[in-house]
Amino acid sequence: MSKSTAVEITPIWNSLVGQSEIVAKLAKAVSDADLIRLGESGPGMTHAWLITGPPGSGRSTAATAFAAALVCPLNGCGECQVCRMSPVGGHPDVQIITPTGLSYRVEDARELVRLSSLAPIESPWRVIVVEDADRLTVQAFDSLLKSLEEPTPHTVWVLCAPSVEDVLPTIISRTRHLTLRTPTTADVRDLLINSYGVDPAMAAFAARASQGHIGRARGLATEEQARMRRQSDLRTVFNLRDVPTCVVAAGEIVKEATSAANTRADLLDTKEDEQLKLAFGIEDGTRVTGSSKRTVDAAKKQLLATQKTRRKRMVRDEVDRSLVDLLGLYRDILMIQLGSSLELINQEMRPQMEQLAARGNAADSTRILEAIELTRASVQANTPPQLAVEALMIMIKDPQLASVHMNMQ
Ligand SMILES: [Zn+2]
Repeated sequence: MSKSTAVEITPIWNSLVGQSEIVAKLAKAVSDADLIRLGESGPGMTHAWLITGPPGSGRSTAATAFAAALVCPLNGCGECQVCRMSPVGGHPDVQIITPTGLSYRVEDARELVRLSSLAPIESPWRVIVVEDADRLTVQAFDSLLKSLEEPTPHTVWVLCAPSVEDVLPTIISRTRHLTLRTPTTADVRDLLINSYGVDPAMAAFAARASQGHIGRARGLATEEQARMRRQSDLRTVFNLRDVPTCVVAAGEIVKEATSAANTRADLLDTKEDEQLKLAFGIEDGTRVTGSSKRTVDAAKKQLLATQKTRRKRMVRDEVDRSLVDLLGLYRDILMIQLGSSLELINQEMRPQMEQLAARGNAADSTRILEAIELTRASVQANTPPQLAVEALMIMIKDPQLASVHMNMQ
């Protein structure tokens, strides 16, 4: 008996913007999963998935919607308790792992493997979503390999990463790979209007400014602070007159990025500190002694180290965000210099950008765009952000001199 080939796209998929191809594949997997349970063949379904896509394209949304659709009795109705709770980690058969906090060590990966071997409790599938799988250590990856290769019958692994290059080849060969595309400005604008009630003018601005990054678009549309920081980052390059102003400009960008990162990190740290206390049954003022004190101290030390690393990475990520905004600005300036009719990312700054465009030429802007990309890479590779951004500001101030200098090296 053959079923109709048309697959129902259930409401849970509405949260994934501009990804109709991927949605079709994942919805087909969910419906084939039902066939597999009935003992029939379901080639659209498999036990290990790798979802890649640029930051903000909706990797986690895709993975958690898939998880919800697999455990929801209606394949992702979007309304039931299961659909609402599983994407936020509130369903016993859906584990969502985000490798930044407490749960990123090898021991935790081993615990995950143990968990994956257990039968699901309430639903037909046990789904394990690993967000930012690129941030797992090689050892953690290694301990997952065997489970990916020979999963228990009811377990589904969904790994997320920015690109296949970020994941070990051994993982890629054991998973089915789906790539999300960068959502269009129109996709993001419509999402902001329809799902977050943002007014159309603000939605249009945030969609353009975010360059296809959904989380960033939402932040810009809803947080005054985020808009102000972006404005101030973009303004810096209009005032670069000499080396001291470049140093000050870099200082401002890095300071604002650090403060944004600290706000986010503080929230996570506090939550984890409380979890740790809870795990050891420590209340404020309790004195712990002897061997249990050593255990608690070791756990605290481990947590502190993880938090410190994460905070540093968050600063780098925030600096990267500023650099992406500058990329958008110089992409616009280049468009103006080339007389292109493409829509500008920073349309509202057109007059100022035209002045800046008139001061240089397309070759300069191209050099600046390359320099920004190099700066992004060096910040990600751990160059102190202040140094990297200072060098960039000096280059932006005088792209021709900088290129002579670079060629001489
Ligand atoms: Zn449901």
